[in-house]
Amino acid sequence: MSISPPELRVAIVGSGPAGFYAAEALQKAAPGVRIDLFDRLPTPFGLVRGGVAPDHPKIKSVTRVFDRIASQPGCRFLGHVRLGEDVSVDELRARYDVVIIAVGAETDHNLGIPGEHLAGSHAATEFVGWFNGHPDYAESVFDLSQTTAAIVGFGNVAMDVARILAKNPDHLATTDIADHALRALRSSRLATIHLFARRGPVQAACTTPELRELGELEGVDVMVDPRDLDLDPASAEQLARSDDRTPARNLEILHSWAERKSSGAPRTIVLHFNVSPVELTGTHRVEEMELVRNRLEADARGGVRAVATSERQRIPVGLLFRSVGYRGLPLEGLPFDERRGLIPNVEGRVVEQPGSTTAVPGVYVCGWIKRGPQGVIGTNKSCAAATVDQLLADVTAGVIQPAPSSQSPIDDLLRERGVAVTSWGDWLSLDQAEQERGAAAGRPRDKVTSVAEMLEIIRTRRTG
Ligand SMILES: Cc1cc2nc3c(=O)[nH]c(=O)nc-3n(C[C@H](O)[C@H](O)[C@H](O)COP(=O)(O)OP(=O)(O)OC[C@H]3O[C@@H](n4cnc5c(N)ncnc54)[C@H](O)[C@@H]3O)c2cc1C
Repeated sequence: MSISPPELRVAIVGSGPAGFYAAEALQKAAPGVRIDLFDRLPTPFGLVRGGVAPDHPKIKSVTRVFDRIASQPGCRFLGHVRLGEDVSVDELRARYDVVIIAVGAETDHNLGIPGEHLAGSHAATEFVGWFNGHPDYAESVFDLSQTTAAIVGFGNVAMDVARILAKNPDHLATTDIADHALRALRSSRLATIHLFARRGPVQAACTTPELRELGELEGVDVMVDPRDLDLDPASAEQLARSDDRTPARNLEILHSWAERKSSGAPRTIVLHFNVSPVELTGTHRVEEMELVRNRLEADARGGVRAVATSERQRIPVGLLFRSVGYRGLPLEGLPFDERRGLIPNVEGRVVEQPGSTTAVPGVYVCGWIKRGPQGVIGTNKSCAAATVDQLLADVTAGVIQPAPSSQSPIDDLLRERGVAVTSWGDWLSLDQAEQERGAAAGRPRDKVTSVAEMLEIIRTRRTG
């Protein structure tokens, strides 16, 4: 669809993949559109900077596409502006024809078991943010003097956590991993890393390349009990029915590992299937985890569910990471679906409440806050394009009527509030500063991990 209301003013909140792809779709379909792209951090790119593992640099190169989008005429970046704190949804609605919310899913699910909040028990979100230099987690501390860690979950984030914990730090030293993480990982005493999946290998949420990488790590043995790979009837049927080759490929890899003997490598990753944690115990910090064995059975929707048996086991654990899914956070002034952890919407149009079809005029969503924390970076492109299609259909139908705002410009409002807004130019100078710091150590960049320091660098470079 192509449309030409040159005066259409759009606020996009969140400069992760979804925000950028929404901007790109608008630029293509509505030339002349004016876009203000907000982020709570002075840095753009969302999880591409703060989530994607540092040893996967090719994936991060998608930022070159985002650079092009940000450099288009009519597109501004307003960093260090938090929706809900520095500006409200209503204030944006009063100043823009359209507001697109693309704030991602920034928190995580709990396990909901006793002992979960003992010291040494962490969300994968926290660990991932920490090793990626996200300012929210720069002060986090992980006790890597422990010898045994457990990761609950078997998706790609769990694979990333296991790999970063197990990998030889020398192999991370050429990446953009946060400096504090590299230092801590260099003195890690971890010898055993357990990964626990609630269901079987057929239901594993990880993709094949990420699984395979575990077996390719230098100095690491990967162990799996062959009995864990015996398929129950429901899983065998699911595998036979699956159009997706991932489960079969994953199984092939797992079988090859089940045949391997321990090489006596300094670190071991042990994979467990069909188990759920039921309790964490310890005097001052997590020391032990109790697990229950599950049996799998077909459910009414054609899937396979885990049912707890009476078989239990306890294993010593000094560090625990839960990696059982991300979750969106509510934003003041917008409805929220507590059950699903996202903003209720119909094809990207925000609706008054879950299940409603009454749209909140002029407000749209895309990315993880629209559909939940699923999908890779590219998935957000079609997701954002679908939202923009609905938005443009609403413009065409006259539901949205671009009109000059009677309110003071957003820049004035933020200035009056003393918000230190940062621009795309500021990000480029911070980016350059990080690259210069990194070059000295033979690294692509040395990330600045505090917002105050980012603002100071930006201020110095503006005046210098
Ligand atoms: C640990 C991890 C690793 C991943 N690795 C890969 C990978 O290797 N390959 C791949 O293809 N996909 C990967 N993904 C998936 C990919 O990162 C997501 O699909 C994608 O980032 C979701 O995009 P988004 O824009 O919806 O959210 P995000 O990327 O989370 O972006 C949201 C943005 O909104 C901003 N924001 C939040 N709240 C506010 C607010 N109140 N005001 C203003 N701004 C706000 C945030 O600062 C952030 O910049 C990974 C995901 C995770 C969690």
